[in-house]
Amino acid sequence: MTIVRARGRAREGGCPCCGCPSARVRDRYHRQFQDVPLAALPVRIVLEVRRFACVNAACSQRTFASRYLTSPAHTPAAPTDSAPS
Ligand SMILES: [Zn+2]
Repeated sequence: MTIVRARGRAREGGCPCCGCPSARVRDRYHRQFQDVPLAALPVRIVLEVRRFACVNAACSQRTFASRYLTSPAHTPAAPTDSAPS
């Protein structure tokens, strides 16, 4: 199995609750994606994720993690075409 280690390059993130940017890294953790097909070879991706502290004292979200397009858990839901009737 091939293991790919990666980390984001963004120095700050935006709080998903209030939208405030923050560069205060609280900690880091690793998220793993297994069974990622890459030229039919078994690959595991280990992604270092930064967790930021929200700097807005009025915000209820104390910490939030960097978001990556490769993260299936954070893929936004597809918009629906249904119009109100
Ligand atoms: Zn916030």
